[in-house]
Amino acid sequence: MDIRDLSVRELSEALAKKEVSSEEITKAYLEAIEKDESSPEPIHAYVSVLADEALAMAKEADKKWARGEATKLTGIPIAIKDNINVKGYETTCSSRILKGYKASYDATVVERLVRQHGMVVLGKTNMDEFAMGSSTETSAYGITRNPFDRKRVPGGSSGGSAAAVGGKLAPVALGSDTGGSIRQPAAFCGCVGLKPTYGTVSRYGLVAFASSLDQIGPLAKTVEDAAWVYEAMAGHDPKDSTSLEHTPAVKLEGNLKGVKIGVPKEFIIEGLDPRVKENLDEMIRKLEAAGARVAEISLPHSEYAVPTYYVVATAEASSNLERYDGVKYGYRAQASTLSEMYVKTRTEGFGPEVKRRIMLGTYVLSAGYYDAYYLKALKVRTLIKEDFQKAFEKVDVILGPTTPTPPFGIGEKVSDPIAMYLSDIYTISANLAGIPALSLPSGWTKEGLPLGMQLMGPALGEQKLLDVAYGIEHLR
Ligand code: GLN
Repeated sequence: MDIRDLSVRELSEALAKKEVSSEEITKAYLEAIEKDESSPEPIHAYVSVLADEALAMAKEADKKWARGEATKLTGIPIAIKDNINVKGYETTCSSRILKGYKASYDATVVERLVRQHGMVVLGKTNMDEFAMGSSTETSAYGITRNPFDRKRVPGGSSGGSAAAVGGKLAPVALGSDTGGSIRQPAAFCGCVGLKPTYGTVSRYGLVAFASSLDQIGPLAKTVEDAAWVYEAMAGHDPKDSTSLEHTPAVKLEGNLKGVKIGVPKEFIIEGLDPRVKENLDEMIRKLEAAGARVAEISLPHSEYAVPTYYVVATAEASSNLERYDGVKYGYRAQASTLSEMYVKTRTEGFGPEVKRRIMLGTYVLSAGYYDAYYLKALKVRTLIKEDFQKAFEKVDVILGPTTPTPPFGIGEKVSDPIAMYLSDIYTISANLAGIPALSLPSGWTKEGLPLGMQLMGPALGEQKLLDVAYGIEHLR
């Protein structure tokens, strides 16, 4: 038995039966991470590894198991995206501008999973700078490679978290999703990735990119693992003013009989790779054979999702990123006057994609353009939300591809922002509408590349969404 092949549930059962200790599990992962980092073409999932701390946490967890104080997550290692605060350690967002910035408090998700449940933090994972991107190539700390093909990207922006789980460098990880950053890398790395309903998981301690869209979620080997982590970290948090009053409770039975599944006709577009289309058709056949009722539906405003997102997200980002001025956080450039210091810090500290977003966002919010761009985008956002509300009157969940193509090559899209932006064409709408969505593994291409399918549900419909995903997972 290889410890690193076990799911969170299997690890938890082994811990409960005293077949393995948290220290052994943690060591197995730390050794694998070290081996990867010193290999010629490393996956490089982590920007920082908390080796000593992880071992100390694991020993503590073993004591809790011995004293009968453990929960099912105690002692299970987890990797955390580097835009989520772990008190006392660097949060860099894979940006030069945050180099050296140490978090002075824990994110609520860390407080719950690590401090309350006793999960063990292996390290902080690589990402696109400030979560802006779809390939993890804009990180200031090196690229992350796809564990299934080292010449390809792991997706992004939570590429490090997805590659860690797919590459067996963590049993489970946290990511953040503003326009697809959990689901797209999950699809590229053969994992399950859940973006919960907006407001269900606290954003306290998550570095803000676009606050009305950002949501933290798990990347896992199985639907059940994702559900466990989601349940443990979701729930109301008074420290996040957008947090909802609700109690997450997920029960998995995998019932597909009579489930109404809608496939939006707008998702079958020209750029859709034939391998992805075939995979979707096969999935639909299997679902029908299992007793689900699959029907075509329409989300008429889908074609406006990408442009709407790039107005709303950049507008919010331009405001959120104002705070990195060389005074309060991380990097500070040498300069003789204050204004020169601001300019030099931001010029040297931010990478080109972040600068592009700040400029775009500043432009759409500027006097004279605000109504034409920002206000218009907000109106279209409402129309997109209404499309979903209408669709969910007829179906329980919506099914479609997570991405238009299998994982693309390193360097292939990095100099073409539009091509890169289009890889989120199916994921972005769920963030604009605030609804939950997940990607789950759906097969492999002939070349051995992972494929993923996306399921979307109505707001607060995590139970149904995860249950259908669980059913699909057990079809194979
Ligand atoms: N890829 C999208 C972007 O570049 C979404 C990123 C995200 O979800 N954080 O903005």
